[in-house]
Amino acid sequence: MFDVQQIRSQFPILNQQVNGKPLVYLDNAATSQKPNSVLEVWNRYYTEINANVHRGIHTLSQLATEEMELSRRKVQKFINAAHDFEVIFTKGTTEGLNLIAYILTQKLKKDDEIIISYLEHHSNIVPWQMLCERTGAKLRVIPIDENGILQLDYLDQYLSEKTKVVSVNQVSNALGIVNPIEEIIAKTRQNSDAYIVIDGAQSAPHFNIDVQKMDCDFFVFSGHKMYAPMGTGILYGKQEVLESLPPFHGGGEMIAVCSFEKTTYAGLPFKFEAGTPNVGGNIALGAAIDFIEKIGHTAVQQHENELLNYAQKQLLEIESLKIYGEKAKRTGVVSFNLEGTGISSDVGMILDKMGIAVRTGHHCTQPIMDFFNIAGTVRASFAVYNTFEEIDLLVEGVRKAQKMLG
Ligand SMILES: *Cc1c(COP(=O)(O)O)cnc(C)c1O
Repeated sequence: MFDVQQIRSQFPILNQQVNGKPLVYLDNAATSQKPNSVLEVWNRYYTEINANVHRGIHTLSQLATEEMELSRRKVQKFINAAHDFEVIFTKGTTEGLNLIAYILTQKLKKDDEIIISYLEHHSNIVPWQMLCERTGAKLRVIPIDENGILQLDYLDQYLSEKTKVVSVNQVSNALGIVNPIEEIIAKTRQNSDAYIVIDGAQSAPHFNIDVQKMDCDFFVFSGHKMYAPMGTGILYGKQEVLESLPPFHGGGEMIAVCSFEKTTYAGLPFKFEAGTPNVGGNIALGAAIDFIEKIGHTAVQQHENELLNYAQKQLLEIESLKIYGEKAKRTGVVSFNLEGTGISSDVGMILDKMGIAVRTGHHCTQPIMDFFNIAGTVRASFAVYNTFEEIDLLVEGVRKAQKMLG
């Protein structure tokens, strides 16, 4: 049985007052809170184990290595990767995307093309623009319609032998829209031999991920949006793809033999993990996966979708409230504005006074805001510990904001 109160009790941070009101945390698409099990693993690592991994012969070093490699295997299972060495620890989605864009530099030449979409986070735009600057390649952007839905006929037009990369998110952080990545991947495979990159920052916390079934080349996500510590993230890459590409950072961990004449690189995954990793964080990411799997992905998703539907239904009853992407398939996020009542940050400030944490502004997706001709939206985003009562408080707060600003 899904018991939200029992789940909430595992998150000490939720049990506090903000501005004299019980905290209502609805900014989960920016970062999620951490359960006791994750905090305990993190704390235990630094109080009992702390040692550098992979090099040490001493007991603590071996223990740290074992625990981190166990966590890597948990991630492997979590996304159904074929091998544990296809799982690279990073510090988050941004680092993962930059790493991929960097190591693909030699594979692109002038007038090659990179396809992204209008719904991308800045971190799935800027690294590709930088890659274009290095190589002379061109960026093509799949447009959206007024409901925020990707116009895939443009993808059909864009795909050609010039296409070298297609990189899209599975779920939009700004609007919560679930993109048809199965269709995007199938079309891309049929019509090009482009590398396929999926930004899973907003899908990994909510969905069952199966990178083999998906048949992407890369899948990246952040730990901190799925109950793990900040500074953790994963880059999945297919074995043959990772093996065929050069390393990103040079340094310790990533070499097989290092001399001034010639250095040879370590095998996967260490080739892409130069330097001391975030061992405690990476181990705690494994605990976050245990936390999600104990509840069950299906139960998590069902609860979050019920919250979303409940929030959307109630918010739409508010006169002149517009939800962006209302008619699209969405998950976890509702993004809206009160038309005629100025800017989203005013609403956010009033909600904050009531202890309600939402995000306002452009959500690192300025092109989407430009498309809708707005400066920003109010975004409420849900996690497994949110309740219907919290949605009621949000709706009440938005009504109050409308009165105050109207
Ligand atoms: C949060 C987010 C990112 C960036 O993640 P970081 O953890 O800040 O590196 C990229 N893409 C999407 C869709 C996101 O939601």
